[in-house]
Amino acid sequence: MKKILYEDIVKAIAELCIEANYELGEDVYNAFKLALATEKSETGKGVLQQLMDNADIASELQVPMCQDTGTVVCIVELGQDCHIVGGSLYDAINDGIRKGYGEGYLRNSIVKDPIKRKNTKDNSPGIVHVELVEGDSLTIHMTAKGGGAENMSDLKMLKPSDGIEGIKQYVLDVVRVAGPNACPPLVVGIGIGGNFERCAYLAKKSLFRPIGKRHEDEGIANLEVELMEEINRLGIGPQGLGGTTTALDIKIEVEACHIAALPVAVNLNCHASRHKQAIL
Ligand code: SF4
Repeated sequence: MKKILYEDIVKAIAELCIEANYELGEDVYNAFKLALATEKSETGKGVLQQLMDNADIASELQVPMCQDTGTVVCIVELGQDCHIVGGSLYDAINDGIRKGYGEGYLRNSIVKDPIKRKNTKDNSPGIVHVELVEGDSLTIHMTAKGGGAENMSDLKMLKPSDGIEGIKQYVLDVVRVAGPNACPPLVVGIGIGGNFERCAYLAKKSLFRPIGKRHEDEGIANLEVELMEEINRLGIGPQGLGGTTTALDIKIEVEACHIAALPVAVNLNCHASRHKQAIL
């Protein structure tokens, strides 16, 4: 059985937190470039150029690309043949967040209690999902999720008879209501199926897939493309100032569900779509 040291997880998480906030992923940057070439609005083009300039400056000066440095969300693929030595996985991730947000001078955005609202002052705790997988590796998918886009996300228990048209209408309504508040251009993560809590997880998980990578099922991939076109016809545009680039990409994950249910969740991600990965 492979041993993975507690302190190696702490170090990996700290590096991911800093890198995610300083360096926009290549997939997002390339999506900006593509959008700049296709955007019809001059204002929209200007905003896209500013977002690219902002990402360049953040990388060059090693500073966060946005003042909202997000909630850390990790999806951990834990190999069933590996053993964590020196402490718990959850403690290691939270120690890594404390280290990364401290050393990277990243804003601390987490309150300990949602009612009393006292800041934990180290951006912990993060939100950790663990998936047990075959093998002896520990793969950490990490995102620093912006609060504005998260606030405009939504979940609805549709009726099975609402079907594909009901799903599309619901997703479009969520994006329309979000307008500029989710900091477009967006990455729209959609979970369909499972149950109440599982479809929210699927929507979040979909956002970890790189921009431009389509779902492996052809029907779902086509739905992603179709929804992307319809969302970009809403006219919200970059930063909500109008244009043809409301979304950089649409991601859908699906799972089995009850015969009486059609759960759908829409998790919006802003243009600061920060996701990184480490394999231990
Ligand atoms: S939602 Fe995203 S772009 Fe908007 S303030 Fe938060 S991190 Fe920044």
